[in-house]
Amino acid sequence: MPKSSSASPRADRVFARALLAWYARHGRKDLPWKRTGDPYHVWVSEIMLQQTQVATVVPYFERFIARFPTVTALARADLNAVLHLWSGLGYYARARNLHHAARLVARDHGARLPRNLERLHALPGIGRSTAGAILALAHGERHPILDGNVKRVLARYHAIAEPLAGKATEQRLWELADAHTPKTRVAEYTQAIMDLGATLCRRRQPECARCPVRADCAAHRLGTPERFPAARARRPAPVKTVRMLLIRDPRGRVLLVRRPPAGVWGGLWGLPECSARDVRAWCRRHLGLAIEPERAWPKFRHTFSHFHLDITPIPARLVGSSEVSMEGTETVWYNVRRPDARGFAAPVQRLLAKLRASREDT
Ligand code: SF4
Repeated sequence: MPKSSSASPRADRVFARALLAWYARHGRKDLPWKRTGDPYHVWVSEIMLQQTQVATVVPYFERFIARFPTVTALARADLNAVLHLWSGLGYYARARNLHHAARLVARDHGARLPRNLERLHALPGIGRSTAGAILALAHGERHPILDGNVKRVLARYHAIAEPLAGKATEQRLWELADAHTPKTRVAEYTQAIMDLGATLCRRRQPECARCPVRADCAAHRLGTPERFPAARARRPAPVKTVRMLLIRDPRGRVLLVRRPPAGVWGGLWGLPECSARDVRAWCRRHLGLAIEPERAWPKFRHTFSHFHLDITPIPARLVGSSEVSMEGTETVWYNVRRPDARGFAAPVQRLLAKLRASREDT
């Protein structure tokens, strides 16, 4: 990688100064986790903001903090209740890790988030950048951060042409992030660089004309900011298919199964997923239930970061005993008209809502 991307200490200061001046006028200071500056609130927001945009996060954050206002409250909560409030936000490992980490903080740190980078980083779900962001935003301590938005800003500002996944590039970006981080006003600077990446230096169609650092931005000078950072060579995401069964008992309750604690949608409640064409035989064999399948609902696609899942929902009526024989798996007959606090993945939520609506029509 060319060393031309290094900035002089003076240039680093110019970058930070321009960013801080922009933040003072345009920064998003009214975000709910900014109002308190409580380290626990900052932590929850940072975890929710991984992979998810601010506008989506705000209502989830507010509901989450209303229900679990402190680390202690979160540590005492049942995972089911945590996943319930995360339903639809995706990347559920974040919620499981947050809950696990809260229990460790309650047990080992007197229910206060450690004020030390290594100890924070050692908690489940807290990477180096998140640990730095918590300390910078909540306590104003000087730690560089390097989330996806910051990587993009720095890669463009320094016209780093290599794909960001490489170890040497990552190391270089950490050095640049460190060099740019000022000694004072660290909390504002940290929020400012994240905001710049999220609002102006977007992946597509960056708004360079409004950018406070455009005068020294190498990618802008080259006239091709979108070319930075280099796109990873991606193979097309594979497509998996599944039939989700909406089995209703005579009282209209629907059968739910709890997914294993790890993996996709880990710990959430879902619908039985059938891999066989003969749904009747599959249900007899795997659930010990006799059912009468009905006409399938239209297929739809749910996209994960690494594959697409084509879902065919199949409604069915239970025609015999409701005694489920599915060893090692929690199951429940669920009343869609009286929902309780459990976590569902977005497609399952959508199907249950459709089922509820269809029952309200009858
Ligand atoms: S000038 Fe454009 S490419 Fe450079 S940092 Fe600003 S928005 Fe990003």
